[in-house]
Amino acid sequence: MFQAVAWVRRGLFHFRAGLSVRMNSTAIDRKGVLANRVAVITGSTEGIGFAIARRLAQDGAHVVISSRKQQNVDRAVAALQGEGLSVTGTVCHVGKAEDRERLVATVLEHYGGLDFLVCNAGVNPLVGSTLKASEEVWDKILSVNVKSPALLLSQLLPHMENRGMGSVILVSSVAAYIPQVKLGPYNISKTAILGLTRTLSLELAPKGIRVNCLVPGIIKTNFSKVIHQDELYWNNFKRQHQVQRLGQPEDCAGIVSFLCSPDASYITGENIVVGGFSSRL
Ligand code: NAP
Repeated sequence: MFQAVAWVRRGLFHFRAGLSVRMNSTAIDRKGVLANRVAVITGSTEGIGFAIARRLAQDGAHVVISSRKQQNVDRAVAALQGEGLSVTGTVCHVGKAEDRERLVATVLEHYGGLDFLVCNAGVNPLVGSTLKASEEVWDKILSVNVKSPALLLSQLLPHMENRGMGSVILVSSVAAYIPQVKLGPYNISKTAILGLTRTLSLELAPKGIRVNCLVPGIIKTNFSKVIHQDELYWNNFKRQHQVQRLGQPEDCAGIVSFLCSPDASYITGENIVVGGFSSRL
């Protein structure tokens, strides 16, 4: 209720004349549903992160794009600005403290705060035995996939909580529920993100900040090429789970927009699978 009032006060809703103020989608003009909000998305110069950046900007948000490589940031920002969207960007390797600080500084410099954080950057440097994974591999996976969302959020939180509401979306994987052979440390890191989501949702609820988790299935990006281009694996996967098509990054972007929107204002601590099949009860 308090969040609803905050959203209304901030002019987010565009109610039709004569209608009473109610939290339902018929009362909301979907166009510009995120107008004047600020969204920060990590790992957003291609793939799922880029599609999320485009969708949130199309829905009216000012978007801060980031990834490790300057040329990728420049290309992504130019592409979305070319579509008339409000986008800026900076380099941020989420595992590097100085890069996270630069991202925070960029957000403050351009917008003075933020409403949405999407922690999308994730890595998998290992295909092989879990017990043969080196300490370096474990450190890299856990640092980028699990620690960095918490550390980045802790740096951004003061600039989110003073706006009265907020939505954080972490990105896991169906590998969290259905461990994939030879991807042990990655599977485990993505399971940890489910726990991080639940824990942070509890800790941040009193501040009016919701924390939810996007759980992609197999989505067509460079990251998943080894899987969806392996005909044997992909055909087995499709048959086993009755998946009818390969997912597209845009399939994930819509659900993130929803989780940021007022329609999701009573949803927190949830994991939502976008995979063309259900991976749990
Ligand atoms: P992608 O197409 O390979 O894109 C990855 C993006 O992240 C790029 O913009 C990349 O740009 C950036 N990036 C990589 N490492 C980074 C780091 N350490 N710090 C900041 N940015 C970084 O990958 P994707 O398939 O969209 O995957 C996005 C997320 O979805 C990941 O968390 C992944 O685990 C998860 N996921 C994907 C699938 C799938 O089937 N595709 C399934 C389940 C879960 P730079 O190279 O410039 O850094």
